Parts: sequence; structure tokens; C-alpha cells
Amino acid sequence: MPDQTETARASEFAWTPSLPDAPTDLDPEDWDGFRAAAHRALDGILDHLETLRDQPVWQPTPAPVRAALTAPLPEEGEGIDAVLDQFDRLIRPYATGNPHPRFMGWVHGGGTVAGLVGEMLAAGLNANLGGRDHAPILVERQVVAWMAALFGLPEQTGGLLVTGTSIANLIGVLIARRAALGEAVRRRGLGTARLVAYTSAAAHGCIPRAMDMAGLGTDALRLVPTDLAGRISLPALRAAIAADRASGAAPFLLVGTAGTVDIGAIDDLAGLAAIARRERLWLHIDGAFGALAAFAPSLRGKLEGIEAADSLAFDFHKWGQVPYDAGCILVRDPRHAEAAFAAPAAYLRREERGLAGGAPWPCDLGPDLSRGFRALKVWFTLKTYGAAQLGRAIAHSCALAQELAVRVDAEPELDLLAPVALNIVCFRYRFETDADARNAALVADLQEEGIAAPSTTTIGGVLAIRAAIVNHRTRGADIAALVDAVLAAGRRYRDASVVSAWPRSA
Ligand SMILES: *Cc1c(COP(=O)(O)O)cnc(C)c1O
Repeated sequence: MPDQTETARASEFAWTPSLPDAPTDLDPEDWDGFRAAAHRALDGILDHLETLRDQPVWQPTPAPVRAALTAPLPEEGEGIDAVLDQFDRLIRPYATGNPHPRFMGWVHGGGTVAGLVGEMLAAGLNANLGGRDHAPILVERQVVAWMAALFGLPEQTGGLLVTGTSIANLIGVLIARRAALGEAVRRRGLGTARLVAYTSAAAHGCIPRAMDMAGLGTDALRLVPTDLAGRISLPALRAAIAADRASGAAPFLLVGTAGTVDIGAIDDLAGLAAIARRERLWLHIDGAFGALAAFAPSLRGKLEGIEAADSLAFDFHKWGQVPYDAGCILVRDPRHAEAAFAAPAAYLRREERGLAGGAPWPCDLGPDLSRGFRALKVWFTLKTYGAAQLGRAIAHSCALAQELAVRVDAEPELDLLAPVALNIVCFRYRFETDADARNAALVADLQEEGIAAPSTTTIGGVLAIRAAIVNHRTRGADIAALVDAVLAAGRRYRDASVVSAWPRSA
């Protein structure tokens, strides 16, 4: 006979379910049916990619589709088949278009089918890469180690995969800020420190934004003029640092660019490294798209000096062709990242054994706690194609850019507006009057007609058509199609008196 206390304890925990045991799990009741729908979905998106070339680059989203995409949250589920049907009708045809070979706007990557599969499998595993001891974290560390080796950074280099270079640059600024001011900045803020940073006038807009978000303010960022090739002027940089020191400010950070977003210029990175060493500045390099030129043996030399970076930000989702989003921050001495981000008691949860092992955890090297398995699509892409094949695609896009530049030079109706350092060509149609408005209208026409999608930028105060050749699918015929379409539209606007499409996109 059980003793009294035990009987009492047993009844205390006895529990009679008062609800019918209706399943609340979200797995399918009909696995076979779901499996068939999932296979159809994969086939559908592969069909889409296989036939891209025959589709418009982009098309505006029609009003009924916009209306359908403002419908309220459904109370009852519609089922996977209905949702897949809506994806095919409402979403797929009206996406950005960057996988298309004639998408040349901004700096967008084309994506890969291997990356697609990696992304899908990552969603299935649903791993959280904030920390703990599991293979997905080893995959991320392997990707980081591969990249450190590619750039010639030391073996102990640490890093994280993040959404993109905007966040990677912010992380770089925060680590540099902590390195300059020590532990106190994390508790008391900036205080009276007058930290100043330097970058080129051609740097990406996310650098001033990072200064803003880090509490340093955009006024503390000196935008140093560039030389004729679009690279930061080293004499002007030295002068700016000297002037700041003379005024009592504290220079702490130098941000170099490997591949400016307007014309693809690469700063003299070795020159910047020498200045950073002499002036004791943190050297951060924004290599958003240009850094991966390191995959191409013919281009690597342009990046000389990148191995001296204290931190380096770049994207896999641009020239690396990995599906969005996939950026990366590398930190030469990861102890600086831990000093900037780890909670004071992070060491307390370091276990040797079990799932709680595996220190240091990624959540102590950056701002995110929960983190997805972004690394898997990168790993799939890098392993499926290898460094050599990705390098060939990158070198090919530079060769296509040179081809485009030669063609522009040869056409009396077109003007080349900037030197072509890598894969970006800035040019425009020569109009007698209203050249900015007419070129902008011409670009919008090309996009709306779905022929090609270059973007626009401003070079030396005038509007330029900007073709960034990033996509591995782009071929010589696509370059020819772009030029033919620009010439045809240019002749149309040359003879038209009214231009209504200004400003479309700057
Ligand atoms: C694209 C780009 C960025 C921003 O990167 P995201 O991945 O879009 O956040 C920063 N710097 C340069 C030079 C870029 O080309």
C-alpha cells in the first residue's frame, strides 16, 4: 500500500484532459497531398528560372494584384494549393527581376539554383544559429574561415553572416567604437569623446547611417574627396586627419571601399592600411560587392591591401550570386567583436558539454540573438560551384562591362561618363537639350517595357545610365540588346518635344 503522502502527490498531478484532443499541430493530415504540392512548387520555380530569358525583365504590378495584396488576414486557412496558386498569379510575375540576365540596375545578384535548394533545406531544419553546439554553426564558421583565407586574413579571424553590408558596416563601426573607447562606452555612452572617422565622398550611404546609428553622428564622418578614378585621395585624407588632431578631435576609424557603388572604384587599400597603421586607426573595408573579385585570379591584384583590414564587410548576395539576403562581417581579432557585443556575464553560460557548449556563440559577436541558417545557402553555392567557377562568372561580368564600354565609345550618339574599373558602366544618350530628363525617361521606358533594367546615377552633376553587370546569366547578346534599346529609345526622345517622366529614379 502506498503511503499517504505519495497518494496525495499522485492525485495532485493526476490530470484529466477537459478538452477533446483535437490536433493543433500544423503538419499536414495528408502528407502525400502536401508532398505533391511541394514538389509542384519546386518544379514551378525551377521552370521560372529555366525560362527567364524569354520573360520580361520586370513588369509593373497591376492594380488588381495590388488590391489582392491588401486583403485582410484570413481567419480560416486557405490550404497550400490555394496559396501556391496565388504565389504564381500575384507574386512571381511581379518581382524585382534581378535574376534576369538583362537586369543591370543598382548592384543586384542573380541568385543560384544551388542557393535555392540550400535556402529550402535551411527552412526545413529551422536551426537557430544564435548559439549552442550543433553542425549548422560549424557550417557558418567554415564559411567565415573560407572567406578569411580568401582575403588573406589570419586564421583566427572571426565573423558572422548578417542580412547585408549595411548591417555589417554598422557592426564594424560599433566594434571600432568599443576598441577606441574601451568598456566604458557600453555603460556610459560616448560622454565627451570627440571621435571622428574618415571615408571617401564616394562611400555608400550606409556608412554615414552607421555613424548615426552608433550615436557618433554623421558630422563626425569626414567625406574625403576622390581622385579622377573615384578612389579616396590619400593626401586629402592625411590633411583631414592632421586638421582634426590639431583641433583636439580623436580620429579612430578609416573606412575604405572596395568597389564604389557608383562606378566600381577600389580605394588604394594598401595605402589606406599604411595610414591606418601610422595613425593608429581601425581599418574597416566596405567590400560589399567588390571584395568577391578575389575569386577571380585576374582581378585579385586590385584588392591588394585588403588583408590588412581590422574588419571587412561584404555581400554574398551580390557578386557571390547567393540568394538574398546574405552579407558577412569578418573581424581580424574576434575578441574585439566579443568586447563590443557580449553580455557582461556571457562566460557564465559557457558549458563544456551538451547542447549548451560550443562557445563562443555568434550571439556574443553581434547584435542578434536568434539567427537563421543563412550560411547554408552560401555553403551550397560555394561548394556546388567552387571558387574557380564563381571567379569566372565575376571576371566574365567585368569583360562584358569592357565590351559595353567599347560599344558606347564607338557609338557617336552615346557618351561614356566614367572609367570602367570593374563591372559598372556609366554612360548616356547625347541629347541637345533636357539630357537628364530624357535619359531618365529612356531608362524608365526600358524597365517598363521589360527589355532591360539599367538604373541611373549622377556623375559629375549629370544623370547617367548605369549598367552594373553582376548577374552570372548575362551574356554578350544581352549587352547588345541593351545598347540597341538605348539607341532606339534615345532616337525616339531626340525627336520628341515633351518629356514627362522626370524624375523617375535617381
Ligand atoms: C550594396 C552596397 C552596400 C549595402 O549593402 P546591402 O547588402 O544592400 O546592405 C554598401 N556598400 C556598397 C559599396 C554597396 O555596393
